Amino acid sequence: MNVLPRTEFGNPILRKKAKTLTKKEIQSKKIKDLAKQMIYTMRRVQGVGLAAPQVGESVQLAVMEMRKTKTRSVDELKGPIVIINPKIISYSKKKIPGYEGCLSCMSIRGEVPRSESIEVEYINLEGEKIKEKASGLWARIFQHEIDHLNGIVYVDRIEDTKTIMTQKEFEKHFVKKK
Ligand code: ZN
Repeated sequence: MNVLPRTEFGNPILRKKAKTLTKKEIQSKKIKDLAKQMIYTMRRVQGVGLAAPQVGESVQLAVMEMRKTKTRSVDELKGPIVIINPKIISYSKKKIPGYEGCLSCMSIRGEVPRSESIEVEYINLEGEKIKEKASGLWARIFQHEIDHLNGIVYVDRIEDTKTIMTQKEFEKHFVKKK
């Protein structure tokens, strides 16, 4: 399997609302292969989420996995999951700030306030409708990836632009030394 090439900030595909997938498309080999390759790519490039527009496909599909990466340690492992035609149906009023990065712009980071918990609905790769409550980092990943499917990138949501820093500085300040 190959690591898929990624689209980067500035590419118009990242600003488009992605197309909803039909039942028939969800069952297609094309979509199953795309999801598989996206999970492989996300893992190889040390990501916790990847949306289809980031690999040049403007469709409502993203993959997510909570796992340890080079710059992030997690208390809990989750996924990998494939989310299709996702919709956030409720947001907690409480928002918490947290640093985000993006596989479409790996050189910078910035602090984004996100709802601490959400309720989300999506279709999985088996075509089943799932309703899920998420909180903490898992909720943050949902919000980041679902934004991608609506043409929004995390830098749009940075409230304090003074928090923006390069990956190198981020690692210096925030990544715990082993
Ligand atoms: Zn992203």
